[in-house]
Amino acid sequence: MRKVGIIGAGIMGSGIAQTVAGKGIEVVLADVSAERAQAGKAGIAKALGKLVAKEKIAQADADALLAKISPVGDTAAMADCDLVIEAATEREDIKARIFESVGKVLAADAILASNTSSIPITRMAAVSPDPARFCGLHFFNPVPLMGLVEVIPGLATSEETVARMKAFGEALGKTVVLCGDEAGFVVNRVLCPMLNEAIGVLGAGTASIADIDAAMKLGANHPMGPLTLADFIGLDTLLEIMNVLVESTGDPKYRPAPLLRKYVEAGWLGRKSGRGFYDYAGEVPVPTR
Ligand code: NAD
Repeated sequence: MRKVGIIGAGIMGSGIAQTVAGKGIEVVLADVSAERAQAGKAGIAKALGKLVAKEKIAQADADALLAKISPVGDTAAMADCDLVIEAATEREDIKARIFESVGKVLAADAILASNTSSIPITRMAAVSPDPARFCGLHFFNPVPLMGLVEVIPGLATSEETVARMKAFGEALGKTVVLCGDEAGFVVNRVLCPMLNEAIGVLGAGTASIADIDAAMKLGANHPMGPLTLADFIGLDTLLEIMNVLVESTGDPKYRPAPLLRKYVEAGWLGRKSGRGFYDYAGEVPVPTR
């Protein structure tokens, strides 16, 4: 790939932009306005500044990476991109409008990919400019650090598109897994029910927050406990994914834990709101029960 367009300059779009530009590929980074895209680029500059301060990368390399990223306010500048990755807000209506507008400029052999966590790829492909050149490309947060990309073909995605997406993910230094277009793909399908179960175990009073996390860290050799991870992902996001799993499969085993619903209703969303299963006011997170 020579030039990649990224639509949405939030957590994921910025992380993808940093990773792609780090491989020397030109990036056009779009959001709802040039200012929002510029803010996304400023976030990348800040993250790189920290790496420079820790002497993990050289200032010249950080400058070279940033110079590859052009923030823009719309998709008009993506006409000569080989690949456009949509990483905007997880709402199907927003994504459909984006596909319509980028469809007006998308080059004849360019691929349009979506970083969606939960919306069916086949359904989005149907409203994209060319379903054969549409594919799911699911990165993980934080993108520069996480080693996995899920490639999800829709029903009409061509083999050539899949091969190009696989090669692209590998060129970014990621391991690529091919997933069917089923709710949650692989990682969220397996991980989120486990996190939901941990919340159910807490709700049943089986063990405390600290003990559930310690049990899964030491007993299952997980790098962090499930309640710590749920707070990191965001409890609203986890609830949304469980709802999608229940709705799309009709299987009650995916029903969100009542305590998960309650926490979201209370506005206790995890790290991003300052409180979830842990309180993040101080230097060290403190279990809340
Ligand atoms: P975010 O809220 O941080 O960023 C979304 C960005 O999209 C915002 O900057 C918003 O202004 C922008 N946006 C909204 N409408 C737009 C439009 N019409 N045109 C251009 N930009 C628009 O969200 P995020 O966490 O970065 O998630 C983005 C996508 O990535 C979602 O589909 C989400 O499901 C998926 N995802 C998220 C994670 C995660 O851990 N956060 C992981 C994998 C995939």
